[in-house]
Amino acid sequence: MTAHTREMSVQELERAWMDEAIRLATDSVLNGGGPFGALVAKGGEIVAIGNNRVTATLDPTAHGEVSAMRAACKQLGTFSLEGCTLVTSCEPCPMCLSSALWARVDRIIYSADRHDAAMAGFDDRKFYDLFEKKPQSMWPTRVEQLDLPNRTAPFEAWLAKTDRIDY
Ligand SMILES: [Zn+2]
Repeated sequence: MTAHTREMSVQELERAWMDEAIRLATDSVLNGGGPFGALVAKGGEIVAIGNNRVTATLDPTAHGEVSAMRAACKQLGTFSLEGCTLVTSCEPCPMCLSSALWARVDRIIYSADRHDAAMAGFDDRKFYDLFEKKPQSMWPTRVEQLDLPNRTAPFEAWLAKTDRIDY
C-alpha cells in the first residue's frame, strides 16, 4: 500500500476499486470478453482481478466474479475468502452470489444492477425472477430427482472420513 492510499478514506478506496472493476469490464469487451469485471480485496489491498471469459474460454461459469474469486483463492492459497470484499462492476448473478456465499466472502459491492444487465441482453434478472417467482415446472431447464437407494453413500463416506477438511 502506498502512502497515498493509506490516506484515502474507506469510501474513497471503495470508489477506486469500483472504478477499477468498471475499467476491467470495459477492457474485457475490447479483449473479446463479456462486459463484466470484478476484483477481490482484503485489508485495503487488491488480491486478484477477473473479467468475464465465457465465450473466450468456452466456459459458462467464467463470470467476472467467479474468475476473480478463483484467482484470489489461488493467490491466497485457500478456498475461503473470509475477510475479503468482492467488488464487481455489476450486481452478481445467482451463480456468482452463491459462489461468493460458498467462498465466505465478507461483503459484496456492485455498481450496475440486474436491470442494467438485462438492458444489455444478459439473463441475470430472468434468473433472479426464476428463483423468486416461478415454480420449477416453468423453468427452461428441468430439475428432477432420481431417487436411488445409495443416494446418500457419498455423504456417509464423507462423514466417516476422519481427516476431512470441512468447508
Ligand atoms: Zn455471474
